[in-house]
Amino acid sequence: MDIKEAAELLGLSPSRFSELLEKKVLLQDWGEYEDFFRFSSNVGKIDEGSVLVKKGDAFEFVQGFPKIKRAIMLAPAIKSHFADIDAVAVEEKMNGYNVRVIEHKGELIAFTRSGHVCPYSSERANHLLEHDLFKDHPEYVIYGEMVGPDNPYVPKHIYEVDSLEFFAFDIRSKEGIPLPVHERRELAADYGLTQVELLGEFEVSEAAEGIRDIILELGKKEREGVIIKDPAMVLQPLKYTTSETNCADLRHGFRFYNESGKDYLFARVVREGFQSVEWNESEEDLEKRCLMLGKSILMPMRESIMHVQEGERLWEDVQIRVREVSTIDKFRMYLERLGLDIIFGSPELIGDEYVVKIRKMNKSTTDKTLGIIEGQLWS
Ligand code: ATP
Ligand code: MG
Repeated sequence: MDIKEAAELLGLSPSRFSELLEKKVLLQDWGEYEDFFRFSSNVGKIDEGSVLVKKGDAFEFVQGFPKIKRAIMLAPAIKSHFADIDAVAVEEKMNGYNVRVIEHKGELIAFTRSGHVCPYSSERANHLLEHDLFKDHPEYVIYGEMVGPDNPYVPKHIYEVDSLEFFAFDIRSKEGIPLPVHERRELAADYGLTQVELLGEFEVSEAAEGIRDIILELGKKEREGVIIKDPAMVLQPLKYTTSETNCADLRHGFRFYNESGKDYLFARVVREGFQSVEWNESEEDLEKRCLMLGKSILMPMRESIMHVQEGERLWEDVQIRVREVSTIDKFRMYLERLGLDIIFGSPELIGDEYVVKIRKMNKSTTDKTLGIIEGQLWS
């Protein structure tokens, strides 16, 4: 490839660019996706997960999705983070996985957060999204959450989604400049995109209280939480989640306790501590929270231990639903390349689509549990 041109686009010297390739900081995708190169770590202003796209002799750059910081105590976090603006927009934070969609050679391509082309998400995107917006605005990247039960990464039944749906939450230029909230929502509506719900707009001084009410309502439906945004999208958004989702994460995390990161588990317990203090809850509500938190940690662990005691291994079943049979093999190879221990079931034709069950083996928790049951010490 023409290294000089690619380097120039990224604002790097050709030698620096070659070095990034050599050190595998910039990695070429494979198979039919060889036009894409992802950044496996941050390089200056380039976020990890950003993608360099080869377009014939030219190149294009697609910025990654920036990290969204979390409010742990709502009122002081909002007051300090949004001190320079008057009002915030609150959107639902949906629980699925993040994809960025672009059009390339007439096809929609979906990148995961890390900048891989996901063959499953790309196939789905081609069926779920209208291509018109890309035809009229080739400069835009559409960011959204893939949500629903036919989801190989984060399957959830809490939404009114039968299979998998794409909910747009951001439209950005390829350089990563986001459209203001209302402009984005109008554009998405004009082109018939499904989008995350706008749950309200609040004066900054009243936002914490309004958001608490929203969070309590979302929690009753086991929903994940909210993203609090500067309507102009100049300041970075903040996220905040429901107690129910913290507990759901813990239930899943402790079921496979040896696969889950300790920071991941610990952070969710800390969130519960601060929420319970900030909301100054009654004795009765506090008791409920304690019970829920404790159950979320212990019950799934007990189940896993007993399961292994009975001689079983631990796994998690997910499923995908595809229209083209070829997507199944592409997706299997993709997961294997990522190093996942998976078993694909045989495709079942339902209507005009194939459902494939995928078993993800949790070897680490299985082996750890087996060892302990056999007398191994925790060192
Ligand atoms: P991050 O690095 O952004 O913190 P994370 O993997 O820790 O990512 P989450 O805790 O799930 O992710 O929170 C951020 C993610 O929330 C975004 O990457 C996006 O996929 C998702 N999301 C869901 N709904 C929205 C929304 N309305 N606006 C922005 N992001 C949303
Ligand atoms: Mg998420």
